[in-house]
Amino acid sequence: MKLILIFSALFGAALCLETFVGHQVLRIKTRNEEQLKKLQFLETLDHLELDFWLNPSTPTLPVDVRIPAHSLQAVKVFLESHGIEYSILIEDLQVVLDREKQDIVASQQIERSSSTFNYGTYHSLASIYQELDNLASEYGNIVSKIQIGESYEKRPLYALKFSTGRGNRPAIWLDAGIHSREWVTQASAMWIARKIASDYGNDPSTTSLLNNLDIFLLPVANPDGYEFTHTTNRMWRKTRSKNSGSLCIGVDPNRNWDAGFGGPGASNNPCSDSYHGPSANSEVEVKSVVDFIKNHGNIRAFLTLHSYSQLLMYPYGYKCTPPADNAELNTIGKAAANSIQSLYGTTYTVGSICTTIYQASGGSIDWSYDYGIKYSFAFELRDTGRYGFLLPAAQIIPTAEETWLGLKTIMEYVQDNPY
Ligand SMILES: [Zn+2]
Repeated sequence: MKLILIFSALFGAALCLETFVGHQVLRIKTRNEEQLKKLQFLETLDHLELDFWLNPSTPTLPVDVRIPAHSLQAVKVFLESHGIEYSILIEDLQVVLDREKQDIVASQQIERSSSTFNYGTYHSLASIYQELDNLASEYGNIVSKIQIGESYEKRPLYALKFSTGRGNRPAIWLDAGIHSREWVTQASAMWIARKIASDYGNDPSTTSLLNNLDIFLLPVANPDGYEFTHTTNRMWRKTRSKNSGSLCIGVDPNRNWDAGFGGPGASNNPCSDSYHGPSANSEVEVKSVVDFIKNHGNIRAFLTLHSYSQLLMYPYGYKCTPPADNAELNTIGKAAANSIQSLYGTTYTVGSICTTIYQASGGSIDWSYDYGIKYSFAFELRDTGRYGFLLPAAQIIPTAEETWLGLKTIMEYVQDNPY
């Protein structure tokens, strides 16, 4: 009986999970504005069902796009006929996904027999949430689990609070996984959580940080989307809310903040992956963080983890004028990038969102900065496109290790420069 249940569970899971057989990811290099315009036109052709991993923005940046098998021929002919250069980043997406799945299954077996959380693999939402409890009980003196809200589909939004004192200390906010398919971010956040907890009392720098500041860490900012990437569609980015008047589901939660809402670099099409939603804070996942930060009242830094591209960015995204603290943010960003590079040589590009990638409105760090949180940064973690969102699990811990060094550089600066 048990075997039958296991079999049907596996079969059921296999039946629901969308496959990507024959999908390719192309890297496209445009040489001029004219070629860029052609790509932006391609973006508007809904029937091709293109999934832009990196959007066409300026001719200097590459464009990565996932192309379903049925559109491959047409897209390649289009590119070639306009003399636009491209290369194949991923030959067959399903092959990479199968490898990722095998890795998860193998490590689940090891975890079951050893009852430990393997930080070097990807996990379901349930096992991440279980590990939050484990951390809170193992490091009860400094770690507690708090709930800051509930997702659209009623999943709890859990954050860890790292604190050594009472009262409303100055605090640092750190979130991951607002875009659900960026799996290395949730996984890195978990590794970083254990790192902070276990370093307190052992590492002088982390000890000093926690003696002066609290840290709030939200490892899965979009739990509905994350669950969906595990059960149904690995490439899901948005929330899972219903859009009135459309069959398309979800809002891009990083276009939904109250900062230049609805402006350039966000879509008003509910079917788009960068749909900004009906109004600012319409997504309860966004609203919950906004309310938490406002209620707390003493958040001094707002840090958010995305992938991929290896960038460290500060405001603004919704406009291209530099923020008042441009010089200071740039100096901190460069220092953090140096810390990241010091471990494995991973190089990061530092700058404002608008000058580094493109104008994008309704983003979280623009909101936090305009709200008065001076030290607002967005990280785009590994890689630069070899695997994109499908970063092999073997790179989780190295990515988390180097990212922590960058984060720590910013946190130390915040500690030493109260405002
Ligand atoms: Zn993202």
